[in-house]
Order: sequence, then structure tokens, then C-alpha cells
Amino acid sequence: MSDAILRVEGLVKRYRTITAVDHLQLEVRPGELVGFIGPNGAGKTTTMRCIAGQLVPDGGEVWVGGVAVTQDPVGVKGKIGYVPQELELYAYLTGEEFLRFVGDLRGVPREAQEERMKHLLDLCELSHARDRLVREYSGGMARKLAICAALLAEPPLLLLDESFVGLDPESTHAIQGLLRDYCARGHAILLSSHILDMLERLCTRVVLVAAGKVQRDLQRDALEALFQSGEHPTLTDLYLKTTAPFRRTPSAP
Ligand code: ATP
Repeated sequence: MSDAILRVEGLVKRYRTITAVDHLQLEVRPGELVGFIGPNGAGKTTTMRCIAGQLVPDGGEVWVGGVAVTQDPVGVKGKIGYVPQELELYAYLTGEEFLRFVGDLRGVPREAQEERMKHLLDLCELSHARDRLVREYSGGMARKLAICAALLAEPPLLLLDESFVGLDPESTHAIQGLLRDYCARGHAILLSSHILDMLERLCTRVVLVAAGKVQRDLQRDALEALFQSGEHPTLTDLYLKTTAPFRRTPSAP
């Protein structure tokens, strides 16, 4: 039996004539920090939204912790922390009220909420803003608050869609440490990003998608072997060579 926390089997999602996700296969196990990379329009966000139960697939199935998303979308939501690319926060709550709201909704006992909230807000350098309205947060502050909210209930699976966009270097560094610790405690993370040099250092595995399909799926040791052999000296090199056939050539003048 599979010990995967996430299993995506033959996932298909179409938007009218566009096939955004095309029979995508993926398994993620506890402890893995998976970089989910690919060109703009490759299908990363669509895949994450199907996993999170925000989109209904046209084919295939997603299981989180053995629960099928089409059978029990609410049950699956309880096992996931999701930070979407387009944030959906409550503008007229303070940062603290927002985290409490999420904590209560996810059934986190008040004492644990308090402890985790303090830890996360300190680490993300948001403690000074916990009493300010979310609508007054800068873009980077709002993204950090969303990450804190996703982590608060310690879900077994975190989905982070471009969650490092707009973060300052101190926060980027701190959150990378937070994510490493999270995985070391047996949770799993699927992280989409275009910051390839960061992913090269951070991830235990890289999954590259293009045209809605997984094109490469490499564990850390396989990546290291490619880097060291010189076949692909960097993740950027691997990315550029793998995605070249999928890039649109400029139209003739
Ligand atoms: P990016 O790196 O730019 O965030 P992505 O890999 O996350 O890209 P998706 O947002 O999943 O890609 O988009 C996959 C395909 O689906 C693209 O061709 C996109 O134009 C299309 N698409 C996405 N959302 C919609 C929508 N709501 N309606 C129609 N087409 C959509």
C-alpha cells in the first residue's frame, strides 16, 4: 500500500478548448519538500486548485491522506494548508483575529493557537502588526500572514503557490527554515515557484511540468548526480533544456 500523503492519478482539467492539466500523475510522501516548477501556463496552479478542491477535475482523482477529493472535499480540505497565488484574506480583521478565525475553524485548541501564533508571527517578523487590519498590510506582509495561517493547524500537506513572491530576503530565509522544519516533522510540501536557485537548495525533490504533464521528477540524489556530472550544472539549466520544446517561438514580423 502507498504511504503517499498526496496521490494524483490521471488528473485532467480543461477550460473550454484549453487542456490545462493533461493526465498528470504525482505522489508526494511525508517528509518531502517538492519544488513544483514549469513555464507560465504549464498547469501548476490548476493542479493545486484541483488538489485543494477549488476546481472540479474533468478526469482522474486526487487523494490526500487516502481521502478522495471528489468523494469528500471537506475532509480533504481539513488535511491541507493552501496558500494560493491570489490571496484571499479577510481585509477587515486584524492579523491576530484572522489567525484565530482560521485556528478556530480548523479546530486548533486555543492554547496551541496562542503558542504557534506567537512562534509564526515572530519568525515572520509580523508580531508588531498583529493588531493591525489585514487591509493595511503590505503585499509581502499579507503573504507571510497567509503562510502563518496555512501552517497554524499543522496540516499534513501544504500547498504553496508562488508564496515567496514579494518577500524580503530576511523573510525568505526565515520561511525556508520554517518549511524545512515542517517537513522534518513528517509533513509534506508542494511548492510552486520560479525562483529556481532557491528551489535548488531547498527542495528534497523537483517535479517539472509543461503542457499539463510531468516531464521530469527528480529526487535530491538524482538532481545532485546531474549537477555533478555536468549534464545539467544547475536547476536552471535542467529547466531551460527540458522546457525548450514547449516554448512558443516568436511569431514572424
Ligand atoms: P504560472 O506559472 O503563470 O502561474 P501555471 O503553471 O500556474 O502558470 P495555470 O494557471 O494552471 O498555469 O494555467 C494553465 C492553463 O490554463 C493556461 O493555458 C491558462 O491560460 C489556462 N487557465 C488558467 N485558468 C484559467 C481560467 N480560469 N479560464 C481559462 N483558462 C485558464
